[in-house]
Amino acid sequence: MSYNIQSLRAGFLGELFEPKDAGYNEARRIWNASVNKRPGLIARCSGIADAIAAINFGRENNLLTAIRGGGHNVGGRGLCDDGLVIDLSRMRSVFVDTATQRVRVQGGATLGDLDRETHVFGLSVPTGIVPKTGIGGLTLGGGVGWLVRKYGMTIDNLVSVQIVSADGQVLTSSLSENDDLFWALRGGGGNFGVVASFEFQTRSVDTVLGGFLLYPREAAFDVIRHYRDYIQSAPDELTAYAALLHGPDGTPLVGIISCYCGSSADGERVLRPLRTFGAPVMDGIQPLPFPAMQSLLAPAFPDGNQNYWKSTLQRELSDDAIRLIVDHGKRMSSPLSFVVLENYGGAAARVSKDATAYPHRDLPWDILFIAQWTQVEETVIHRDWARSGEEMLRPFSANAHLLSALDVETDEVVNTAFGQNLQRLAAIKKKFDPDNFFRVNQNIKPEA
Ligand SMILES: Cc1cc2nc3c(=O)[nH]c(=O)nc-3n(C[C@H](O)[C@H](O)[C@H](O)COP(=O)(O)OP(=O)(O)OC[C@H]3O[C@@H](n4cnc5c(N)ncnc54)[C@H](O)[C@@H]3O)c2cc1C
Repeated sequence: MSYNIQSLRAGFLGELFEPKDAGYNEARRIWNASVNKRPGLIARCSGIADAIAAINFGRENNLLTAIRGGGHNVGGRGLCDDGLVIDLSRMRSVFVDTATQRVRVQGGATLGDLDRETHVFGLSVPTGIVPKTGIGGLTLGGGVGWLVRKYGMTIDNLVSVQIVSADGQVLTSSLSENDDLFWALRGGGGNFGVVASFEFQTRSVDTVLGGFLLYPREAAFDVIRHYRDYIQSAPDELTAYAALLHGPDGTPLVGIISCYCGSSADGERVLRPLRTFGAPVMDGIQPLPFPAMQSLLAPAFPDGNQNYWKSTLQRELSDDAIRLIVDHGKRMSSPLSFVVLENYGGAAARVSKDATAYPHRDLPWDILFIAQWTQVEETVIHRDWARSGEEMLRPFSANAHLLSALDVETDEVVNTAFGQNLQRLAAIKKKFDPDNFFRVNQNIKPEA
């Protein structure tokens, strides 16, 4: 690449890393060790002024440009080879306004950053379930987590964003300003600009009743079937996922992880049918400060492992599908891998399919085959296990995907994440990024 980095350096307050610089290898490292990209330049911004400078520099020098938030996109879309990475990992401030009960979060913050600050005031924002995930990629992809059934998806709690567009302009986007862009940002991914900050409505969530129920794997079919029937008539206060997993000593297990967001007495009553079913080897359900609930799964997703994900959204979870999932769990090629069965619905399902760019409000089940392992030379075995799980479920699949759960995929698969909203998204992409400057993402081509 030929460009004069001095022109960027002159007014840049953050850090710039080229391959020759100390710190470059650390700066290009992300959570998933399967991603090994070597950007030509990493611009770690100190704030919005740096982000504007980096966008202008990338555009003027015709550089392939990626946006890195929390670095947790499974396929490594926060990085690119050779080009420019606009790295927001220093922009992690969180400000709670107790008068409006709103919170402003910088674009590089993690879920953990957000939970830590809002918890001081007994407040929370519905996000995801692993604290090191970036609020940037998660929100722009929709965002599902422990409060999804009670308070909806992350995008359903978004009030406004401050975004820098491809031409370096700062825009505010909300229901009353640049509303077309605001619609697109709620599920359209990182296609429209660098979000410098998000503003969310918070919810009064302080302590929840939550934790694991674990059973021997032999009970998997019965446990998952019971969970399916139970969750479909459970109140919105409860979100619960099921998983096939292994214990720390390698014992195959089936687990239900629950989060009840309401009074403890009601939670005890609501959770009783789940907790009295079968013979759990562990019942860890207890009152938890919300950030502790948010951190329960952190040890299962450490930095530095190899990862590959496949997933599929389903309208229903039939007995036949459960049987296939349990069988595939027996073939799990690594004890670090999981099959996770996530159920959404509730408040998330009461938003209409075209109210935001996220179109799959009517598909409550997401089945994820999460392959995780340590030795790079074993990649094919573990990737194939995840792939064959998703292929096996195609007869039950809605041919639709949650954007944020996608690994590297074909355009055809990525388009199924946008579904019926793709055309409108393409028109908005053309308006705000006609040259497709922001294309290192789950890309929406500007409408022809
Ligand atoms: C361990 C783990 C757990 C997860 N759990 C959940 C979960 O519970 N719920 C859920 O909904 N998802 C979950 N996800 C998926 C996650 O939301 C997506 O992978 C998301 O892309 C991660 O965002 P990030 O900012 O960390 O990613 P990055 O890799 O930094 O960014 C990914 C993409 O997002 C865009 N982007 C990020 N920040 C910005 C910004 N400020 N402005 C503009 N574009 C930006 C860019 O296009 C970028 O290419 C999980 C992922 C992992 C790895």
